[in-house]
Amino acid sequence: MFKRMMTPFTKKLIFTLLSLSFFLVLHLLFTHHFKHPTQLSPMLYPGLTILLMVLHLLIACLLFMRVYCDSKRFYLVAIASGFMGSALIMTGTLASFPAWFTNQAAGGGNYNDAAIFMLFRHIILASMCSCTALFYALRARIDGTIMRLTCFIWVIGATLLLMTLGYLYSSYNPMLSVMLIDEYSLSWQALWQNKIAYLMIAMWFASLALIIHFSHLKNLLWLGLAILCVGDIGTLIIMLSDPHTNSLAWFYSRIFETVSALIILLVLLCDVFQLYQRSYHKYQISYHNSLHDTLSGLYNRRFLFEHAQHALKSASAEKPVSFVLCDIDHFKQINDRYGHLQGDKVINFIGQLLLNAVRSHDVAARTGGEEFVLMLNGTSNVNAMNIAHRIKSQIAGQDARSSQGALPKPVTMSMGVYTVTEANCTIEECLERADQAMYRAKKEGRNRVVNYH
Ligand code: GH3
Ligand code: MG
Ligand code: MG
Repeated sequence: MFKRMMTPFTKKLIFTLLSLSFFLVLHLLFTHHFKHPTQLSPMLYPGLTILLMVLHLLIACLLFMRVYCDSKRFYLVAIASGFMGSALIMTGTLASFPAWFTNQAAGGGNYNDAAIFMLFRHIILASMCSCTALFYALRARIDGTIMRLTCFIWVIGATLLLMTLGYLYSSYNPMLSVMLIDEYSLSWQALWQNKIAYLMIAMWFASLALIIHFSHLKNLLWLGLAILCVGDIGTLIIMLSDPHTNSLAWFYSRIFETVSALIILLVLLCDVFQLYQRSYHKYQISYHNSLHDTLSGLYNRRFLFEHAQHALKSASAEKPVSFVLCDIDHFKQINDRYGHLQGDKVINFIGQLLLNAVRSHDVAARTGGEEFVLMLNGTSNVNAMNIAHRIKSQIAGQDARSSQGALPKPVTMSMGVYTVTEANCTIEECLERADQAMYRAKKEGRNRVVNYH
């Protein structure tokens, strides 16, 4: 019932509502509790920056692994590269505040460098989000090795170029410089407040539009990327709300950004979990199919042989193992008269009847066309003969009506029984003897059970 209600649309709706309420609760808590940045721990900003860097690194690794495991998701290579670039460029942010790593955590740092690295982080992530949406739209064309290699080199190259530009514009390179934050007042400059921040917001909106347009937010992964865009637009708007770096907005924007990264990580973990669930389900089906015969639903020859090897090792007079080899009489006539499809129905019906006739620790297997073997553990010869007689009568007592059309006419079965009472007999020997008994049953007129002597 619960599973049926969880349609893809409901899942996406719940996820969106949860993410938005998470942001809302965070906003209410933050604005209610804190009125001034001095109320915040000096370790909060460095701590969040390191956390964000680790989260982006983790996201990048998970995305690259996702691409490696499933080449159909090659388009994710762009956003993986974006997160990797973002994590790496954040080392520059950390280096801009050397005091964070000494015991005067509240000490000053190069705020302008930190702002430049943040700007290039946004450029890298927003452009790689757009690139992911475009790669997705062109996924049918990006399917050859050469094409993929070109795209891979392009995204890695573009990320590296943007990272290098970030370092070139920072104080590491005196030749190029841009002032986003005034070093005396520690406030955002007009260049950021009036131009670059709006340009960045426009860039994120463009990425969001491309993602929605091409993916239709068809799964949680796309929804996660859309929430990343919304989260980053929110981060920039919060930053714009107060031009001073020593403001609540400066801290709050970093919290907002970290929460968006956490949501993305959560989405990726869900994706990995779904992937695991699906492949485990497929594995279970193929494991079941490797041991079962699809037509009759019984075990197959391979399972019987492997299972019998263990049971036969410890067979004794106290722990006898009986084999009943069954063969449908004149089965060819059914095929010839009613067709192969009807013949298949007969095999399936007899298979189910045999399965119901044995205990759970016995083995009922289909070993050939219309041949079945029952391996009855801990069953004496007398009991095995009784079971075989009971099955023979049950089958002979069925007709088209009682079998609901599975049997076009009543069928009979010939059976040979052999019981092992000593250890280390091979399965081939046992089946050979049961087969000899079954052959005698055929010779003696069919529809009977013969014991091996
Ligand atoms: P007998 O009483 O001597 O056993 O006669 P029979 O006709 O049952 O014996 P035979 O071994 O000559 O024929 C078995 C037939 O089973 C031949 C083959 O076409 C048919 N058969 C084998 N596998 C399948 C299957 O998967 N589906 C169907 N419908 N028929 C099968
Ligand atoms: Mg037959
Ligand atoms: Mg046969």
